[in-house]
Amino acid sequence: MTQRILVTGGAGFLGSHLCQRLVDRGDHVICLDNFFTSRKETIEHLLDCPNFELVVHDITKPIEMNVEMIFNLACPAAPGHYQHDPIKTMKTGVLGAIHTLGMARANRARIFHASTSEVYGDPSVHPQPETYRGNVNPIGPRACYDEGKRAAETLMFDYHRVHGIDIRVGRIFNTYGPHMHPFDGRVISNFIVQALQGKDITVFGDGSQTRSFCFVDDLIDAFVLMMDADEATGPINLGNPNEFTISELASKTIELVGSESKIILKPLPEDDPIQRQPDITLAKTTLGWEPSIQLHEGLARTIEWFRGIDVDEWEPPTPNWAGGLTASAAQNRA
Ligand code: NAD
Ligand code: UDP
Repeated sequence: MTQRILVTGGAGFLGSHLCQRLVDRGDHVICLDNFFTSRKETIEHLLDCPNFELVVHDITKPIEMNVEMIFNLACPAAPGHYQHDPIKTMKTGVLGAIHTLGMARANRARIFHASTSEVYGDPSVHPQPETYRGNVNPIGPRACYDEGKRAAETLMFDYHRVHGIDIRVGRIFNTYGPHMHPFDGRVISNFIVQALQGKDITVFGDGSQTRSFCFVDDLIDAFVLMMDADEATGPINLGNPNEFTISELASKTIELVGSESKIILKPLPEDDPIQRQPDITLAKTTLGWEPSIQLHEGLARTIEWFRGIDVDEWEPPTPNWAGGLTASAAQNRA
């Protein structure tokens, strides 16, 4: 049955894939975005579909809509961009949750919230199960994002307990794929753009820190399964448990691109988590989900997409791409 589904942050990396998936299966999709870290061009082709609407709106401001389902994805996700205006990032996390929960309450709509592995901070438990309460520095440079997401989880569970709202909280671990912003400063987009342009690959720290990378198609499968399940309140970790050091990722990217790029070391950003790997036992048992696309294949598909875009058509979302954390992006453009 066709449903009216709101996707906040629907023009972003994950949101654009989700909107496409929902439009393809026949739902009526309302994409809400303020284009802070995305471009209209990413979802422009969907505007020709009768079951797709675009609403340009900032989710820190209230809005009313008639919808049956909500995916709340609006929030800058790359460190350079969420640290550019940290107060706004916290507002997007907290007020975005309040405003989407208000809509869920008014419509008795089911709501999915895009939470994050960052709620675990720099984890002292490895891999991270959902029961781990985390190790977040509440006053550090990542706190605007991490604590905004933690507060949003609190709001989700309080609306669930107090107002009986049907919530779905997914804790997303590093995800990559086509439609990533080439200047978002995240490690996979940075390394691919650098390798394609023959520039130095900027490894922060000594490259021994780890991340576990999930290909976007697998993640979107999990979003849909979680929302369609009769019961999946969560929080549920959503990610690929195969863990790699950042040095391994750099070498793999150079190899797959066939690039002459050299690896150089840059200072490790403050509070950068040392290791990260999801325990996805809960996702396997409650959703029957686990990722099927491993890094080699996913990276090759992502590189293919990056080869096909003209990076000069993409404006860096904030000046932060060129300084501090994302200095590498400045080189890409030089
Ligand atoms: P993204 O930056 O590509 O997309 C975020 C979208 O939200 C963008 O289109 C942006 O313009 C929009 N947005 C930001 N602030 C807004 C506001 N105030 N009002 C309306 N729209 C706003 O990031 P993404 O990777 O697609 O992430 C989507 C969601 O998933 C985010 O909530 C992020 O925290 C979460 N997440 C992503 C990852 C990942 O690895 N990609 C990991 C953990 C969590
Ligand atoms: N990183 C890196 N070089 C870059 C960008 C990022 O070495 O050009 C590192 C970063 O320090 C972190 C990891 O890659 O240890 C993942 O960074 P990203 O910003 O993609 O995600 P997050 O830190 O939020 O997991």
